[in-house]
Amino acid sequence: MGSSSFIQLQAGDALIAVDVQNDFLPGGSLAVPEGDAVVPALNRYLAAFGARALPVFATRDWHPANHCSFKAQGGTWPPHCVAATRGAEFAGGLALPPAAVIISKATTPETDAYSGFAGTDLAARLRAGGVTRLFIGGLATDYCVLNTVRDALAADFDVLLLADAIRAVGVNPGDGARALGEMQQLGARAIRYEDLAS
Ligand SMILES: [Zn+2]
Repeated sequence: MGSSSFIQLQAGDALIAVDVQNDFLPGGSLAVPEGDAVVPALNRYLAAFGARALPVFATRDWHPANHCSFKAQGGTWPPHCVAATRGAEFAGGLALPPAAVIISKATTPETDAYSGFAGTDLAARLRAGGVTRLFIGGLATDYCVLNTVRDALAADFDVLLLADAIRAVGVNPGDGARALGEMQQLGARAIRYEDLAS
């Protein structure tokens, strides 16, 4: 009676940690304000998924040094997440399980990818694993999380957005809130850790 709104983790669920990389944390070359706050928040979800042996995916920017998104090449951003540098490593405190599947994106000079689905085999891997529902959090709300959620919904996955485990770049004031609104409008359900059934 009354507690049916709690979310029960079950077979077919997967967690996607989006771009929790050093360069997006405070002190990094493209720091997201409070970006480090997603690490302990995601770790709680990672523990819940680990306890149920449910799959975990971690996306990462994995750029060549002359990537098209960098200002020197006419792009928008300072150099960030250059492959095999410390800035591209996952945050040291992120408790990814050994079995986590790493999805590298935007790995060639001429293509950028905000979405973990863009130019990767993420969708195929999820389908091969029988995944139908995605729990998505990470960095940043208004870029890579937004685009990953858009593509996940377009590919007919159910999406639960981890509202307590995302942070926005906020190039323009309100970008994070607008992105959150768009994701919900498209069909993502925003949840918090407390919404999970224990
Ligand atoms: Zn990038």
